[in-house]
Amino acid sequence: MADIKKTQLAVIGAGPGGYAAAFHAADLGLEVSLIDVQLNPGGTCLYRGCIPSKALLHVAKLINDAREAEEWGLTFTPPELNLDKMRDRTNLVIEQMTGGLGQLCRARKITYIRARASFVNSRRLILFNEDGSDDYLDPEHIIIATGSRPTLFGPLIKSERLMNSTNALQINRIPSSLLVIGGGYIGLELGSVYAALGSEVTVVEATDRLLTGVDHDLVVPLQKRLEQNFKGVLLSTKVMEMKELEDGVRVQFENGAGEKSSAVYDKVLISVGRKPNSQGLNLADTGVKTDSKGFIVVDEQRRTAEPHIFAIGDVTGQPMLAHKASAEGKVAAAVIAGKKAAFEPMAIPAVVFTDPEIAICGETENSAKAKGLSVHVAKFPWTASGRASTLSSSDGLTKILVDAETSQILGMGIVGNSAGELISEGALAIEMGAVAEDLDMTIHPHPTLSETVMESAAAIFGQSTHIYRPAKK
Ligand code: FAD
Repeated sequence: MADIKKTQLAVIGAGPGGYAAAFHAADLGLEVSLIDVQLNPGGTCLYRGCIPSKALLHVAKLINDAREAEEWGLTFTPPELNLDKMRDRTNLVIEQMTGGLGQLCRARKITYIRARASFVNSRRLILFNEDGSDDYLDPEHIIIATGSRPTLFGPLIKSERLMNSTNALQINRIPSSLLVIGGGYIGLELGSVYAALGSEVTVVEATDRLLTGVDHDLVVPLQKRLEQNFKGVLLSTKVMEMKELEDGVRVQFENGAGEKSSAVYDKVLISVGRKPNSQGLNLADTGVKTDSKGFIVVDEQRRTAEPHIFAIGDVTGQPMLAHKASAEGKVAAAVIAGKKAAFEPMAIPAVVFTDPEIAICGETENSAKAKGLSVHVAKFPWTASGRASTLSSSDGLTKILVDAETSQILGMGIVGNSAGELISEGALAIEMGAVAEDLDMTIHPHPTLSETVMESAAAIFGQSTHIYRPAKK
């Protein structure tokens, strides 16, 4: 039998949840082993998620900005694409960032183990090393941070023309046409990249709206833009069948009225959700419980049914976002280090990095309604923002939801340029228990898009300077 090593804390999975947990635990004085199959920490987010997708969206933005510059009297010749260079640059960003995380691990004296981990029982891990050997590790505490992977899709065929988000990020050629199955944020972001690069993109969504969970008025400006940039946006439409032909994939659709149609696409991107990486860990030989979808069940300290085992990030469920995983990781690490901590955020912001961007945090109109909350909603259209006009971004909107009685800020939603950067003011306001007056009376610099946050708060009282909407008596 191989050596049995001991450690105070083993973290399985080095994505934004796992590495944040490991770093925080080491900062708090624990002796930590961080285990992942990859060369360096980074996880889905850095290797095949947030970072590569945002690098490609940056390229898409350069292309779109150059085209739109014509309105301002600047005409560029159409761009020439060098896909190898684009891929190399993206990979360089990934290497630099993951390499940097590796250095931070060493600086904190964390033992980074390149292996696949599985439970022998609730007290012992087996580590399957790259060279085929295995080791055993007996940790005092364990954090499971194994993340998630793309969900497979019902009418699936085996074909080189089918992509999931992981291989869609490695662009080897630009498909003449692309069908994106799923109108969630990953599908819309990647669809936007391919459309900017020259593919004819169609998105198909089974429900009657894109980005379910986001208030409709925030989705409208994006949907209008996508309807211009994409060949089609098919809502209330299901993919029934796919068949590979010599020149593409024939896809059969059925719409809400039961009408059938079909079309052929060069490539098909399946982005219908993600599922937890909880299988393969042999959780059955531990007391760790999962729900019907395989997500690990945890309490507010991120503790599983086994008191010394914690779980964080995508493997514990929605929202599957990097910053939520990191925040949970820090809580779990603090609890293990003996601190009083719980994961009880009042707002977890979420950003869709399309053009325009959409960002939300806290309650939406839909969620407030579902919870029976009595709220006042104010909207500040960006047609009234000087900065938005100078950025050709007048189709944006900032909205705020406040408690009807106390005017405490409960939610914020923004669609428009840099919405992802602006939303943090809303998240801070919600976490601080700020009221609309706080945002209204905070002097914001002019001319900036952040003024739309201040003006939306003023609009609660019918006192926004740049729109005239008197308060209801
Ligand atoms: P992961 O990042 O998935 O990391 C899990 C790690 O565990 C992996 O490195 C894996 O190799 C390792 N692992 C799994 N099983 C084992 C095992 N048995 N032994 C050892 N190691 C194991 N989120 C955002 O917040 N913003 C975005 O803009 C964004 N964009 C995205 C774009 C795309 C295309 C995708 C796919 C995702 C995006 N996400 C985004 C989601 C984000 O990537 C995840 O929410 C985040 O990575 C979850 O972090 P995690 O630590 O829970 O797991």
